[in-house]
Amino acid sequence: MSLALVLNSGSSSIKFQLVDPENHATDEPFVSGLVEQIGEDLGRIVLKFDGEKHVFDSPIPDHSVGLRLAFELMEERGCGPTQVDIIAVGHRVVHGGILFSSPELITDEIVDMIRDLIPLAPLHNPANIDGIEVARKILPNVPHVAVFDTGFFHSLPPAAALYAINNKVAAEHGIRRYGFHGTSHEYVSRRLVELLDRPAEEINQITFHLGNGASMSAIRGGKAVDTSMGMTPLAGLVMGTRSGDIDPGIVFHLARTANMSIDEIDNLLNKQSGVKGLAGVNDFRALREMIHEGDQDAWSAYNVYIHQLRRYLGSYMFALGNVDALVFTAGVGENATFVRADALAGLEMYGIKVDPERNELPNDGPRLISTDDSAVKVFVIPTNEELAIARYAVAFA
Ligand code: ADP
Repeated sequence: MSLALVLNSGSSSIKFQLVDPENHATDEPFVSGLVEQIGEDLGRIVLKFDGEKHVFDSPIPDHSVGLRLAFELMEERGCGPTQVDIIAVGHRVVHGGILFSSPELITDEIVDMIRDLIPLAPLHNPANIDGIEVARKILPNVPHVAVFDTGFFHSLPPAAALYAINNKVAAEHGIRRYGFHGTSHEYVSRRLVELLDRPAEEINQITFHLGNGASMSAIRGGKAVDTSMGMTPLAGLVMGTRSGDIDPGIVFHLARTANMSIDEIDNLLNKQSGVKGLAGVNDFRALREMIHEGDQDAWSAYNVYIHQLRRYLGSYMFALGNVDALVFTAGVGENATFVRADALAGLEMYGIKVDPERNELPNDGPRLISTDDSAVKVFVIPTNEELAIARYAVAFA
């Protein structure tokens, strides 16, 4: 079996999977794991292989030690890099700026270009580069491929990509809408085209990636024409812990009157806001329980979340003019049947009719959840960003 190693490196963690590119979205990867608490007193590696989960605690001073330790642990279990056939490595890279529209074979020059983009993603791109450099040393003889979270949105038309702020300042600082979660939006939108069995150029769709982070995208003929995340992943929908769109004046107000520092406001809006900020929890299963128990904060958080989804849905229906399908994906989009039902309730006059029974079908693959006479088809399509990255990577093998 030829496998791809998929790496998603964060500032203190590395998520890794060995994936058979022939898998379906809902198949388990051959191996999956997480190196976490890199740089802290004690780190941890969690490895899942052959239906078993193994946990190891050890100091992990940097990404290099982390990845090497993970590989040693895999070797001990017979699934290490020298024992299985790894034909390519795919690296998730958060920010490709306006430089990258599609996956790239990694060379020293490409690494330098990703480094040049650090000002746009100061937390993410340095960690992605660490992961790339370490993995290239450990696996020097296979192609390494960078897959950019922003790539799919490279095609955004200027009307959707530009912010109406001073154009000299914007040009100097790279300020524009880049969009994120592109690998997922592209993956499910292509799956939709396969399911409809019609030419991609004919299909207009709106994709909802609702996980802990959440974003929507309007897609015409296979190309993104708008998306809800912006220059950073903070914009757009209400998320697990991120505020989504707010009046930018709130930032100045907090700085001036609450005397909060820029870092404190950053933390507030990214980590202490969203559903968690309003209800105290960010998991939709817990939120639903709280609503059933009559918790008013949970109820308002849910309503704010749904209201924002519908705001974007309405605006993307207008942006596209004519919509063939809506696609829900990621943790909330695939599993929270109540979110889908409430987001689309009462839209019959716009041709959107969810079938309540189909909406409750188990999440075990792509499925239609609209009625047969719904003009706009509604689908749930499980996403799998690692599988998508694996497929991009092996294309270079
Ligand atoms: P991430 O953005 O971290 O990759 P996921 O796409 O895995 O997130 O989504 C995680 C979220 O999905 C959880 O926080 C939870 O709110 C939601 N979720 C997962 N399973 C269910 C479920 N069975 N019912 C409702 N919500 C769920």
